[in-house]
Amino acid sequence: MSAWTDLGDGLRVRQSRCYAMNSLFAVRDGHVLLADPGVLPSELDEIAAATQEITPRFERVSVAFTHPHWDHVLGMPWFPGAESFAHSGFGDELEREELTIQRAAEKGVAELGESLRQPFKAFAPVHAARGTALVRLGEFDVVTYDTPGHQSTHLALWLPQSGVLVAGDLLSDIEIPWLDAPPWVYRASLKSLHWLFEQEDVRVLVPGHGPLAHGRLDGYRRLLRDMDYLMHLEERVNAAWKRGAGLDETRTELAAMEYLGKDASYPMNDVHAENVRFTWQALANGDVPTR
Ligand SMILES: [Zn+2]
Repeated sequence: MSAWTDLGDGLRVRQSRCYAMNSLFAVRDGHVLLADPGVLPSELDEIAAATQEITPRFERVSVAFTHPHWDHVLGMPWFPGAESFAHSGFGDELEREELTIQRAAEKGVAELGESLRQPFKAFAPVHAARGTALVRLGEFDVVTYDTPGHQSTHLALWLPQSGVLVAGDLLSDIEIPWLDAPPWVYRASLKSLHWLFEQEDVRVLVPGHGPLAHGRLDGYRRLLRDMDYLMHLEERVNAAWKRGAGLDETRTELAAMEYLGKDASYPMNDVHAENVRFTWQALANGDVPTR
């Protein structure tokens, strides 16, 4: 199976061997837009070569990033001179996390038999936005959606000209919502994307990991499924908390919950256990859920 999926209309997606991470490769009037190019060096070589077929010296390339996790941010050195784009808080986060990203990247890449040619270096994107904003990257219109919950500077990128939603680490078919905050933060992000599915013609959903979703219904279904997971997580942790259950007891109890990727070959069990911790901890800290 080819790593590339051709979506027509100058749009392609390359899926990495690493976590099935998806990179968008879009061409419009001689300009290339890349979203989260990665992950492995050999794969980035391939994406860079495809880019050079369109713009030989990378003169007309924009590289957009959904969020600063290591598997999404290694690509920049492959596209010298390209304009970069991410959330306004992305650059600071990369700088703070530089060493962590560097170590995780070295390890992750080595596990798949490759090595980084240079250590990861933090960078500040040339263009940045926050909230719901329309930005112009080369020939592309991009509408940003703040979508915290997995990572605080996470952006989903809506490409209205082609009906593509680059969802970052949301709406995957192999991963449950992966929290770094209380579940209601993530739920609010899903709610904002809910409006996108209501109002726009989402032709293709490109999640950060795993299979693409084709058509509005397919994408919307994932959103409802993830919402359902978060509601159940909240309800059950809340009930345990009210009963006076500690974290370990709550975790043991919540291990019985059904969810996507439970005991799968790409297992979500540890992620779920961490999600329980984030939820329980938020209640212990007196964080109030927003509905
Ligand atoms: Zn991530």
